[in-house]
Amino acid sequence: MIGSGLMGSALARAFAAVGHEVAVWNRTPGKARAVGGGTVAMENLIEAVSGRELVVVSLSNYAACSEVFSSEGVTPALAGKTLVQLTSGSPADAREALEWAKANGVDYLDAAILAYPGFVATEYATVFYAGSRPVFDRHLETLQAIARNSIYVDERIGSAATLDCAILEAYYGGSLAFLHAAAMCKAEGLDPKTFFSHKNSFLGLLSVTADAAQGMIESNDFSGDQCSLDTHVAAIEHIVRLSRDARINTRFPKELLDNYKRALSAGLGGKELPAVFRTLVQD
Ligand code: NAP
Repeated sequence: MIGSGLMGSALARAFAAVGHEVAVWNRTPGKARAVGGGTVAMENLIEAVSGRELVVVSLSNYAACSEVFSSEGVTPALAGKTLVQLTSGSPADAREALEWAKANGVDYLDAAILAYPGFVATEYATVFYAGSRPVFDRHLETLQAIARNSIYVDERIGSAATLDCAILEAYYGGSLAFLHAAAMCKAEGLDPKTFFSHKNSFLGLLSVTADAAQGMIESNDFSGDQCSLDTHVAAIEHIVRLSRDARINTRFPKELLDNYKRALSAGLGGKELPAVFRTLVQD
């Protein structure tokens, strides 16, 4: 296990917990020694990977990985092994890493973990994998130590990172939206607890809209008889006005309004909400 940060430490302990012999290496050796859980801290990375079949990496970013792999003797020591990249990155990072792996005789899977370290190895952890299916199948049982929900996405090496970025965008965007919503409630003297107690209202709406959007994007037909974009835009204008009147940050609802209004300018005012998609792909 290369990397003993918050995530790397949790991953290493999860592999060790099911009986694997796990060597851990970290740039700052004290953190590798602190992992515990039956793992063995190694100060020398080449020795740490020698004799291992599977090398799992979790560092801050791909630049850090390149730095580590370019240290003298490290890349040759990885030849013939399977490297599972659990560092978060973009699809382009994954493609570049695959080129490096191919050039150096390393079997490579690009992966993305959807869990906080505290949820590693629980039913709430999901890991997406991209790359060679036979390599994934060969290591699946071992990899299930960190997440029973280990999902093979696609042979295209960037697919796990793409799916991760897509899910994270929905997560971060949705989280910012509900935090702004809580701020609106507080500013208007409504206890945010009341808003959060109705979380199933907005989660349910999101779920229904996501299902509708999927079909509409597929058919490229955004017509419907539920609620026009014109009506949605009027609702967003209320949110901007409330925020301005309550003197809280208006940047988020204004950005929302701007995006939705662009769809009106494109002549989509009579269509259903997912029609905004058309203006996004054209940007
Ligand atoms: P972290 O606690 O900050 O750990 C970062 C790790 O990267 C440390 O081991 C650090 O080594 C190492 N590192 C950074 N730059 C380096 C360099 N130039 N050379 C060698 N090692 C370097 O971060 P983390 O939370 O474990 O996250 C690790 C990866 O998991 C990230 O890609 C993150 O996006 C992903 N991830 C994290 C979570 C989460 O909830 N934490 C969830 C999903 C995915 P030192 O100890 O020497 O600084």
